[in-house]
Amino acid sequence: MLRTLPEAVAENVRRVRSRTAVPIMAVVKADGYGHGAAAVARSAVDAGAAWLGVTDVAEGVALRDAGLEVPILTWLNPAGVDATTAAHARIDVAVGSVDELRRLIADAAEPVRIHLHLDTGMARGGCPFGEWPELLRVARAGRGRVEVVGVMGHLPRADEADPAANAAAVLRMRQGRDAVLRAGFGPVIVHLAATAGALTDPATHFGMVRIGAGLVGIDPSETTELAGASRWTAPVVHSARIAAGTAVGYGGDHVAERETHLSVIGVGYADGIPRELSPGAGVAIGGVRHPIVGRVSMDQIVVDTGPVMFPRGEVATVFGPEGGPVPSIQEWAQWAGTIPHTIVTGIGNRVQRSAA
Ligand SMILES: *Cc1c(COP(=O)(O)O)cnc(C)c1O
Repeated sequence: MLRTLPEAVAENVRRVRSRTAVPIMAVVKADGYGHGAAAVARSAVDAGAAWLGVTDVAEGVALRDAGLEVPILTWLNPAGVDATTAAHARIDVAVGSVDELRRLIADAAEPVRIHLHLDTGMARGGCPFGEWPELLRVARAGRGRVEVVGVMGHLPRADEADPAANAAAVLRMRQGRDAVLRAGFGPVIVHLAATAGALTDPATHFGMVRIGAGLVGIDPSETTELAGASRWTAPVVHSARIAAGTAVGYGGDHVAERETHLSVIGVGYADGIPRELSPGAGVAIGGVRHPIVGRVSMDQIVVDTGPVMFPRGEVATVFGPEGGPVPSIQEWAQWAGTIPHTIVTGIGNRVQRSAA
């Protein structure tokens, strides 16, 4: 089924809501997974998402400038986060180390809302459990300059869709939360799960789930059908008939076995077409999938259209949600030996986005 971006995001918010009763944070980092941060954020909030999440304060400010009013959390701020901007724009800052917290307390002229970030088993940011008591002591001493409103962790293995894989992180999260409550902080919102945990393991939901990939139709757990939120089209810029034995593209890697027709599409690796593709990669033109032949160039790919010679301007679909001849983002990820996230976040700046 074909949907606009807002419709697809709304449908995905509904599908997540059918699996959990807790509020949803819409994660729109990396420009909304390549789909446009403000457009995805607006669609998600209209569909009921209560929070927004991005990596840094600058991305949060851009969302405020776009008119989004819901709470915003950032979790990857470089040293010297702009405490004044965060306080003024009401952008929450996740803090995952004692150093970071001390610095923020020193810089905060006005109270900054913070989420204490616990390492729940990834060793990629977040405070190690052994340093958690010290983090809580410093946060308590900094009251008035920082206000603890949340506690966060992140699941290292939720995409395995196996609750047993999450058990250690869930336990750690409970211990971290209990320590925060014992230390006398007020009500805090506790959040651990991203898309995969939200869709597969209720024990990970706590007080909120953070949904990024799922908003744009990507389920890292591969358990749930979500609505594809984007279609990438590009025109045929050149077509030609070639004789058997003709070499195609840089290095002449591909040699036509028979007389055939080629169409050149004006998208290349600078636009996010992966340069390394397994055989079978293709695009849809005229309702049929045609293989990409020869090397991917910076600005173009060549497609073997067999007996058909497409006119200039004919529209090729690189990917879309409809299936059949139209490749999916998941197929592109398979062809490139990667995950769908890298396909959507790799789409270049010169590819025009439209949310309609
Ligand atoms: C990216 C990110 C998310 C969203 O993850 P998805 O799997 O895309 O839903 C949630 N939390 C944190 C900390 C993240 O960095």
